[in-house]
Order: sequence, then structure tokens, then C-alpha cells
Amino acid sequence: MIGEGLAALPVDEKFEPNEKLKETWKFSVDNPEAFWAEQAKQLDWFKSWDGVLEWENKKARWFNGGKLNASHNCVDRHVATWRKNKVAYIWEGEPGDKRVITYAELYREVNKFASVLKDLGVKKGTFVAMYMPMIPELPIAMLACARLGAPFTQVYSGFSVGALAERTRHTEAEVIVTADGVFRRGKVIDLKGVVDKAADQCPSVRKVVTVERTKHGVEMNPEKDIWYHDAIAGAKERYVAPMPVDASHILYVLYTSGTTAKPKGVQVCTGGYLTYTCSTLRWAFDVKEEDVWWCFADIGWVTGHSYIVFAPLALGLTNIMYEGAPDHPDPGRTWRMIEENEITKFYTSPTLLRLLMKYGDDIPAKSDLSSLEVLGTVGEPINPEVWRWYYKVIGKERCPISDTWWQTETGGFMISPAPGIQLAPLKAGSATFPMPGIDPVVVNENGDPVPMGVKGYLIIRKPWPGMLMTLYKDDERYLDYYWNRYPKAAGDRFYTGDYAVQDKDGYYWLLGRSDDVLKVAGHRIGTIELEDVLVSHPSVAEASVVGKADPIKMEVPVCCVVLKMGYEPLPELAEELKLHVRKVIGPVATPAAIHFVGNVPKTRSGKIMRRVIKAIVDGQELGDTTTLEDQAAVEEVKRVVEASRAGSI
Ligand code: AMP
Repeated sequence: MIGEGLAALPVDEKFEPNEKLKETWKFSVDNPEAFWAEQAKQLDWFKSWDGVLEWENKKARWFNGGKLNASHNCVDRHVATWRKNKVAYIWEGEPGDKRVITYAELYREVNKFASVLKDLGVKKGTFVAMYMPMIPELPIAMLACARLGAPFTQVYSGFSVGALAERTRHTEAEVIVTADGVFRRGKVIDLKGVVDKAADQCPSVRKVVTVERTKHGVEMNPEKDIWYHDAIAGAKERYVAPMPVDASHILYVLYTSGTTAKPKGVQVCTGGYLTYTCSTLRWAFDVKEEDVWWCFADIGWVTGHSYIVFAPLALGLTNIMYEGAPDHPDPGRTWRMIEENEITKFYTSPTLLRLLMKYGDDIPAKSDLSSLEVLGTVGEPINPEVWRWYYKVIGKERCPISDTWWQTETGGFMISPAPGIQLAPLKAGSATFPMPGIDPVVVNENGDPVPMGVKGYLIIRKPWPGMLMTLYKDDERYLDYYWNRYPKAAGDRFYTGDYAVQDKDGYYWLLGRSDDVLKVAGHRIGTIELEDVLVSHPSVAEASVVGKADPIKMEVPVCCVVLKMGYEPLPELAEELKLHVRKVIGPVATPAAIHFVGNVPKTRSGKIMRRVIKAIVDGQELGDTTTLEDQAAVEEVKRVVEASRAGSI
């Protein structure tokens, strides 16, 4: 049984019994409307809602009839109080440059950029695409869009031309906001060149606004291109009134990998999402006015959207934002930043922790980490060993760890310790219990609950305010993937795609993806997406991709490739294919290995048996192979993988 035998960490006396947590949770699931209505009051509303939840055909409309604006909630309402001079962002560039931005300054910048966008014809409903590094102009641009009621899509700046073009085309964005480049591990990475190529493939794009960051010299097309600083200097208005939008108005669309080659455009609403992210940040991190909050993630992913921008700003917190790599110019960078900024709450991913852990305990020991109060992780299951290191070496056994399980689709934390309500005893590697309002259950193939201790699929039984509204322009896929998987099971079942188990104490243990999605250094990548890219290369007839366990990145893609007639399985071709994937998707997706085979193992009905390939790659038992069409294909994959392990090819 999974979860059994993992001893609970010796728990400090101050971690009290969890009656309050249980009571809060029970009230929230028994009375969701009353509970969430109370939570929504933490926001400023221009008009109150008529109903808390409309639930029709598996689509939720939260706070229907209510009107608000996310930009007003994140800046204007603070500027009207003493928080006006409170620091909103302490930003650090990788080379060591710094900017400290108060709420008043943020307000001025957001207004000016909203005026610029307005002048470019952006209005309520116009999409803006962003391909931005971690610089303050990114949250400024997001808030400027929200101010106008213009939905945005931020594309992770490590993605390539194809990924940016596809997302920009799908949203029909009219403006792209970018930077000339970004500093990463001491090098300049060009971004504007990627945007130029992508924009050429997107007829909807009228203008490109570029922030000058690296000054490495980029081409500017006088018809299309505008420098951000010139535009700001010429901004016509100093104040642009925040547009009151419906609670269910789209705030953003964020694309994420799924089980097909086509990324999913997760469509997020304004009122429910803001309510949910603010509440969950308070519960999971017990945030207080005087906190210095560092969510060390990239805003290109949902973690940054929710917990570097919207929730911490709506709560008026002081945030740290960092541009570069955690171990540049030396492995002590992250820990020094914690000391220098007296960070109280620190939130990052297991992959980053594994990277920093490998440098040894002496490195964090050089920094004073005594300001830390709560630690957190997200993105993948945290190995108990890494959890213990984080708890002991970084948190000095004083700080609880909020292991937050959630997804792009959920908007905010779903299962996590809740020191902001009451802390239950922690277990190394368990995300513990659901957040208030969240009703998860572990089920079997038919959607029926499994007993405690048995591994199954994690599903959520009730709508929650942070949930996606739908997949952008694809209601059918939204319903099929998330809701219609268990036609015979009673009640609503939101399918998460994750395996989980509940231990005998009721703790949830998340056990990774159950579908064809990989987690590479915390980035979600679809195996079919990768296979499609490989097959788009002229030499490839067929490809099958699986994840192989990796000590730092958790998983790396390993590809079995069948070549077309006339192509030789040479090492140079393998390198070319790796480069091809890098170019089309981005460096995060680069395969760790390409194995050339004559056939990939398939079922009699012609489906690739990735499970079998994965077992071979991981060196495990093959399991049931009765539906296999051709045993010889399995033998060949075994031979090739073993030969490459032995280093002979
Ligand atoms: P993304 O939508 O890119 O944030 O990826 C969401 C996926 O990351 C989830 O479906 C999980 O597989 C994984 N994940 C996120 N947080 C955790 C966590 N705390 N523990 C285990 N898995 C996690």
C-alpha cells in the first residue's frame, strides 16, 4: 500500500490538533454558497452579485451579476490607503540590478500602460499576447490589460516561435508585448527575434511593444514595432478608469499541455478566480501584512499568474520577483536573496530544491535564513528526502511546509497544509488535506471511490471559484476530458489526470500523472505533442515518447523513433532530432535520448503501448502484455535501450 510505512515527521507541540481545520472544511462543503460569498467580500466589487453559483452543463458562473475589476483590486484599492507607499515588488535582475516599486508607482505605471494599449486600439475583449521575461513590466502589462477588460495570454518565454505563434493565432491577439531579451546564466537570450518570426505567422497582430532590457540591438519595424519606454513617455492619460466587468469575464487564457498534440487554452474568469487565489494564499501560507513573499516561479506558468501577480497584489503584499537562474552566479544566490530581503514565506518547486540541494548544506548555511516562517512547494510530488532537507536545512525545523497540489485548470491551491487556518501534523511528501470548499475523492476506472490505501484517480466532486470556465474555443474538449469520463458514475466528477492515494489517516499523497503528460523540471509537456513534432521531421515515420525518471528534473523525455526508408539511424540524426524538438517547442522539451527502432510496441488494435516502453526505459517489470501485437518489437526496444544504457550506442 502506498503511503503506509512513511512515518509522520516528529511534530512540534505547537502544531495543534486539527479540529478547526475539519470544522472549516465541513462547513465549506456543506454550505458552499454561504462560504464563498463570505470569501468574496475580501474583494472590492463595483456591484454585488445576484447569485453565488450558477452550475449548468458542468460550467460554473460564480458571483453572477457581480461587477469588479482585477486591476482596481490589485492596485487602486491599496493606493487609497496607507499601503500607497508600501512596496509591491522588490525586483532583482540576474546581473544584480534592483528595482523597488511601491503600490503608488505600480498604479502610475499600470495606468500609463493602459493608456498606451487603449491608444493602440485595445479595448474590452481584445486579446493581448505576451512573451515576457521576469521583469516588472510583465505584471504591469497584465494589470493594464485587466484594467481595460482585455484578456491576455502570457506565453512562457522559454518557448519557441511555433508555440508562440500557435497561441497568438488561437486567441487572435492584436498586440504582442515583449522584451528585447533576458539575462539567463549570464547570457543574453533574444526574445524579440522569436516574436518577429511568430508575428509574421499571425495576421491578427497589428503592433508589437518591446521593453528594452538587454539592449543587445534588435530590429524595429517602423510599421509594427514600438519601444515600451517611448510609448510610456507619450502616454496620453495618467488615469484610465478600470472597466467594471462581469465576474465571469475572461481574465486570461493560459495554454497548457494535455493528452493531444494541441495545447489546452485554460480560460479563467475574474471574480471567482480572484476570490479563490486570495483565500488559498491566506490559508496555505498564513500571509500577513508585514510578510515579504517570494514565489520563485515564472509568470509564464499558472503559479506566477496566481501567486506572483493576482493574489499577492490583491492582498497588498510585498513580493520578490527575480529574473534569472537560482544558482547564478553561484549556488548561494537564492539563499542570499532570502537573507538580504528578509523573506518570511518562500514558495518554489521540488526541481529547484533538488538542484540547490546537490550543492551541499554548506551553501545555505552561509546565509541567515531565520526570517523564514513558512515554506512551500508546487509542480510535482516532492520526494520525502527532499522534503526533509527543506524542513531541516532551510526551515531549521521551525517552518511548516505547504506542499500545494493544484493545476493550471484549478486556478489555485487545492490540497495543501493550511497553517493560515490550523496546521495538521505534516508528513514528508504528502499534500495533507483539501483546502476549504474542495471535495476530492480517489476513484477507480468506473469513477467509484476506492478504499483508503488504494491508489486511484483523483477527482473533485464540487465546483470551486478558481476553476477554469472552459477551454478557450473548445467546450467539447472541456466537457469530454474533465467531466464526461465516468458516464456511469453518480454526481459530478472533475477528472484531474493525477493518481493519488489516501492513507489510513486520511492524508492525500499525489502520485504523478495518470495520462500521457510528462512533468519535466516542473513543466507540463504532452507526450503526443512531442511525438507530433518528431513526426514533422522529414526522416521520421513514427515516434513514441515516454518519461524517464531523472534525479533533478523528475522526468525527461525519451523517444523511440522509427525512421522512413532511406534514412540511417546515425548519432548525428539523433542530435538533429533533439534540436528539432528544441526549436519547435523550446529547450524545456529537449529529449534526453532518441532510440532508433524498426517498430514500436503496439496493441492489436494499433495503439502504441507507451506503458511497456516506459517499463523498459525505467528497468521495471512489463506488466500485462496480452494485448501486444508483436513481441519482437518489445525485444527490440529492450535491446536498444539496454545497449544505450551500456553506452554501446
Ligand atoms: P501545471 O498545470 O503545469 O501546474 O501542472 C499540474 C500538475 O502538476 C498536476 O496535475 C500534478 O501532476 C503536478 N503537481 C502540481 N503540484 C503538485 C504537488 N504539490 N504534488 C504532486 N504533484 C503536483
